[in-house]
Amino acid sequence: MPEPLSPNTQHLKGSETVAISNETKRRRAAGEDVLDLSVGEPDFDTPVAVAQAGIQAIQKGQTRYPPNNGLAELRAAIARRLSLLSGGRAVDPDNIVVSSGSKQAIFNACFTLFGPKDQVLIPSPAWVSYPQIVHLCRAEPTLVPGALDWGLKVSARDLDRASTKRTKGIIICSPCNPTGSVYTASEIKSIAEWAKKHDVWVITDEIYRCINYGTGPAASFLDLPDELLERTVLIYGASKAYAMTGWRIGAALAPAHVAKAMAALQSHTTTGANHPAQWAAVTAFSDERVEAEVQRMTAAFRRRRDYLVERVRAEMPGLEFVEPHGAFYFFFRVDGVREGEPVTGSQFCEQLMKQEGVALVPGAAFGDDRWVRLSYAVSDQELERATDRIVRFTKAFASARAA
Ligand code: PMP
Repeated sequence: MPEPLSPNTQHLKGSETVAISNETKRRRAAGEDVLDLSVGEPDFDTPVAVAQAGIQAIQKGQTRYPPNNGLAELRAAIARRLSLLSGGRAVDPDNIVVSSGSKQAIFNACFTLFGPKDQVLIPSPAWVSYPQIVHLCRAEPTLVPGALDWGLKVSARDLDRASTKRTKGIIICSPCNPTGSVYTASEIKSIAEWAKKHDVWVITDEIYRCINYGTGPAASFLDLPDELLERTVLIYGASKAYAMTGWRIGAALAPAHVAKAMAALQSHTTTGANHPAQWAAVTAFSDERVEAEVQRMTAAFRRRRDYLVERVRAEMPGLEFVEPHGAFYFFFRVDGVREGEPVTGSQFCEQLMKQEGVALVPGAAFGDDRWVRLSYAVSDQELERATDRIVRFTKAFASARAA
């Protein structure tokens, strides 16, 4: 028997999405024709102006330890960008902490706010890392299932039903990974009001805010008046909209005392985010040429979403899915595809990979294995080929008997 590890890691599981991605790479390396629609990252390269800023930072010797909470220039650029996105409201750069990806920002926020015996509500299906991060804080994640006829979103009433005296926080993700749902301004307001009434912290993960298919950016907690934000930590980042996943730049905007604690926490873990990458991110968040690139990429995601939804409606009528309004995910339901014989997302994905060489992520990774997630952050050609295969597979799978 191996020696037991610390209880800190008793619930720890590796990321399912990373495992699928590794398996896909292995198959590809073995010469298999595999289409990977499992990963949550843009297929685009980082905008040239951003990459150049990173290179110049290295050449100029901006390679020493950065300030723990992030470069003042970057915090100012993020504050300006967040302010612009929310109609010019005031955003204080001193309340921003830059970290190694928004994943670290979420970890910092949870570790700073939650501890043993605290319950944290997580609308489900949920991004894989939220429950794991809450466990790492020794707090208790409680999944709150979203409503089927409401894009799998939760309402204040759902939260109320799931909450207890120990409820200390809630983690909201909009636009949502894995569903592509987007909370409206009034839904956000009612959740914020519920949280204020019950003294519950809100961590609002808005990393996909600019990948939104309505007009302008998605509605945000930052559109709310100050009195509703006293217990809110907003998560933002460069990875998705700016195609900068590997640069590892994320940020949290939090009340001053929380921001201070998060910076202190970071000073003992990572010291702070990669210094030259922070200079690249200054350009990402402040250069209007880059904003034009962001819009071009978002238009491409929208085009792919339209293509996929149209084909699914035409070729697989009756397949239930969440109407995608943002991010780059398509979440569809497979448990009923084979009449009289329930199928899990895991079975569906395993067979799809075996028979057609397409990698998707079973809903089990997000807390509900009746569903499957497809990422359309792939080239138009790959999406077309993958859709051909998925349609062919689903039709055959629906009529075949289980082995
Ligand atoms: N939040 C959500 C909802 C995500 O999908 C991801 C990436 N998959 C992250 C946070 C983390 O992003 P990063 O650490 O690259 O900023």
